[in-house]
Amino acid sequence: MTFDGKRVLVTGSTRGIGFATARAFLKQGASVAINGRKASDVTAAISGLGGENLVAASGDLGSGAACRQVVNAAIDGLGGLDVLVNNAGVYVGGPVEDVSDETYAWLMDINVKGCFFCSQAAIPELRRNNGAIVMTASESGLSGNHESALYCTSKGAVVNMTRALAHDLAPDIRVNAVCPGAVMTDMLGAGDDAEALRDIAEFSPMKTIASPEEIADAICFLADPGQKFMTGALLAIDGGATACR
Ligand code: NAD
Repeated sequence: MTFDGKRVLVTGSTRGIGFATARAFLKQGASVAINGRKASDVTAAISGLGGENLVAASGDLGSGAACRQVVNAAIDGLGGLDVLVNNAGVYVGGPVEDVSDETYAWLMDINVKGCFFCSQAAIPELRRNNGAIVMTASESGLSGNHESALYCTSKGAVVNMTRALAHDLAPDIRVNAVCPGAVMTDMLGAGDDAEALRDIAEFSPMKTIASPEEIADAICFLADPGQKFMTGALLAIDGGATACR
């Protein structure tokens, strides 16, 4: 794979899977726009990544207007766009009875509306460049997980958004998704709690937790311009969890 001369926006790239994805694209020759809610986090991520071939595109992706502003900042800063990675996301767990209207709206705005309107804003530029969109969906979009109804609802929407956009944007733009199981990031919420991490690892047949780098490599694979036929694909990277349900 090479992304020499390619221009990539990774949403939610100040840490976790997004940060690892930005680093993977950079290593393969791309220029990358970094996004996160806070400008200070974006600045810190850019200096952590080494500063070169990087531009800032900060903004909270909870509204259509903000998505358009972030995508336009990336296009202006990079001089165009070849790949959009819709990665920003948040998690709320707990009993379905405890989900308030406000929490529902907040999570769905980031996890679903953000992917939808960033994709919409990027279409003209991606179409011009025969580009690609990659969604960070989740294993929770492929099956129902314990006490995660709201999150599963949002990721199920991202899974079907991937299929619908793949259909509508072919043959100009390919649209695919990674569907990770547990990944070692802040979102996992286990920190250094060895017992909690063991319990999470037990959940998959592979009895382990993915690194952000493994998910980043899969995102690059799906975005690779050498792939001409793969669109609408859902790539589960979950240690076999969904295969065994
Ligand atoms: P993380 O919490 O480490 O990072 C999330 C990133 O998204 C951060 O950069 C944060 O600033 C950004 N973000 C959050 N809300 C935002 C907003 N409103 N506007 C702009 N940026 C925002 O989480 P992660 O584990 O790296 O998660 C990345 C993606 O992977 C998410 O979509 C998540 O749902 C998905 N995912 C994670 C796991 C896991 O176990 N960690 C599993 C499956 C899917």
